Amino acid sequence: MTELDLVTPELEGQPPGVVLAWAARRFAPRIVFATGFGLEGCVLVDLIGRSALPIDVFTLDTGVLFRETYELWRELEARTGVTIRAVRPERTIEEQASDLGPELWRRDPDRCCELRKVLPLRAALAGQEAWITAIRRDQTPERATARVVERDERFGLVKVNPLVAWSAADVGRYLRENGVPTSPLFERGYASVGCEPCTTPCRPGEDPRAGRWRGQGKTECGIHRRVKKNS
Ligand code: SF4
Repeated sequence: MTELDLVTPELEGQPPGVVLAWAARRFAPRIVFATGFGLEGCVLVDLIGRSALPIDVFTLDTGVLFRETYELWRELEARTGVTIRAVRPERTIEEQASDLGPELWRRDPDRCCELRKVLPLRAALAGQEAWITAIRRDQTPERATARVVERDERFGLVKVNPLVAWSAADVGRYLRENGVPTSPLFERGYASVGCEPCTTPCRPGEDPRAGRWRGQGKTECGIHRRVKKNS
């Protein structure tokens, strides 16, 4: 039995702040949190700031984020005292267009996500021991089996998911009670915010991620895709 097998049952059901503090104690300085400024990410940045945890926080700046996301980035830094580093792709949007044609996200969103998100993330995670994510089990079928601490086979790291057992209502309650800034796009019908070209508002009753890559049969950028056993 590994150390993770032993610690995971103890951490299941613990408040996210307790999980984060354990992760910082166990892995700092080789632990990072990649936030996409979703509601859950704002919760975690706030919790990291409140306890001044030694966790390196960064965001994948694809170059095509919403203006509102860039504004929230600065506001959250000022509010929490947490510096959120920019991790950028090798090529700018213009360079990518020159190499592979304009608006790659329309023709091959998987390739675009690979170049602008997955590869930069992989580089940012090199040399780390653990990374924190803001995923919740009830967001997608792929995330339904996520554990609070697990081994991430894709990146060869320990993956810590402090909010995995929280519901959307839990997240909303924390944000309200603690006055944490969030993207104004959520009040305009967006349920999940990513890159501007690939994000649309949701209609009433739609799955919260239906607005991402609408009509393209894609629900994940590839970062949180889980490795299937025996495949
Ligand atoms: Fe490209 Fe869209 Fe993926 Fe952003 S979300 S990296 S624009 S395909």
